Amino acid sequence: MRDGLETAGRTRGRLARGDGQVTSADVGLVGLAEAMIRQAAERLGIDEGFVARLSVPDREVTVSVPVQMDNGRWRVFRGYRVQHCNARGPCKGGIRFHPDVGLDEVRALAALMTWKCAVVDIPFGGAKGGVEVDPSELSKAELERLTRAYTLMMLPNLGPRVDIPAPDVNTNEQVMAWIADAASAALGHPVPAIVTGKPVALGGIVGRREATGRGVAIVTLRMLERLGWERQGIRVAVQGFGNVGRWAARGLAEAGLAIEAISDISGAVWRPGGLDLDDVERHLRASGNLLATYSAPGVRHLTNAELLELGVDVLIPAAIENQITSANADRIRARMVVEGANGPTTLEAHRRLVERGVVVVPDILANAGGVVVSYFEWLQNLRGELWQLGQVHDRLEEIMVRAIDAVWATARRLGVDARLAAFALALQRVVDAIRHRQAGH
Ligand code: GLU
Repeated sequence: MRDGLETAGRTRGRLARGDGQVTSADVGLVGLAEAMIRQAAERLGIDEGFVARLSVPDREVTVSVPVQMDNGRWRVFRGYRVQHCNARGPCKGGIRFHPDVGLDEVRALAALMTWKCAVVDIPFGGAKGGVEVDPSELSKAELERLTRAYTLMMLPNLGPRVDIPAPDVNTNEQVMAWIADAASAALGHPVPAIVTGKPVALGGIVGRREATGRGVAIVTLRMLERLGWERQGIRVAVQGFGNVGRWAARGLAEAGLAIEAISDISGAVWRPGGLDLDDVERHLRASGNLLATYSAPGVRHLTNAELLELGVDVLIPAAIENQITSANADRIRARMVVEGANGPTTLEAHRRLVERGVVVVPDILANAGGVVVSYFEWLQNLRGELWQLGQVHDRLEEIMVRAIDAVWATARRLGVDARLAAFALALQRVVDAIRHRQAGH
């Protein structure tokens, strides 16, 4: 099962322990969305009642998932699914497999999904799931049994009109296929729309795998345009070369930007002037997927922490949460940070970056491309359609550009930074939906 899991997922544990020094001055992933919503509500004059309501999830489910291991013994894993708010539509969000998954983290990530779906204006609320497991310790058959058992335990709370899971850290198309199959078998008929990120052969949509990274590239290019920065000569560093980082780097390289540094679990490679990404990909395929052993003329090796501090124009943290903290924020030299991961910058670090004039494009906008294409997949399944790649790319770009422009306009109107503007726009949309539901009562 190791092959095909997201690199971002596999870098997660080590990066989180080694580099993300979250102190009491920082507000990291847990607490960040709530703090932003408070600030946004204050700016918009939104009633405290809404903030109170939106600071707790609609539903939290914790399950114990018994799984028989290959050696015949049983192990019990903890599984979670949190549905934050369905005011704008069925709940939507990924499932992650990681030993450090806990209810607090899943709850924070579920809320982020509500704001993410609202900021790009797709008709979903937010959810997130997780299982406390290190998938690299399980055989493929054990992982399959775990996934199927988790799905059956959660099934009463899932459904195309209720809550639709998707891939996240350490889960992939294969895991989504098992979810679809377990749900279909239990319900007695195919329910492809119950999960997104499936293999194309099972009703998955073309272009979903690269959608998040592609979205990051679209957002970055649109921001350059908005800021009036010439594309030519822009230098980029990308932390994490998984599902998000890899496609973001490729998209930006195609657009003519110099990808000077990338990293994975094994460390970072840096080449002033730009890396040859095709050569890197060839090496990764041949060497079993690690960057540390890559060498080419002019290429130097760095740690993940050093990559963050390189003198580039654009920094894309696309691995895991809490990477830019009060411990390293003052050493970040990029002029723009585009959050490919969920929650890579703590609130204190964000404050310091913005104070120095660094443009930070927040996660709920920057990495929304994945859930946008999940939305297309869901539509495709419900309508019995087959979308073409060109259609997926065009509509993704249209939705992302519209969202960036709306955040930009909100930032101007309120006189705030992009993160607060994105949360304000999202909050306004969710509050409008709740208000309309309540009208007449
Ligand atoms: N896990 C992804 C995210 O954090 C995608 C969720 C989805 O497609 O539903 O945005």
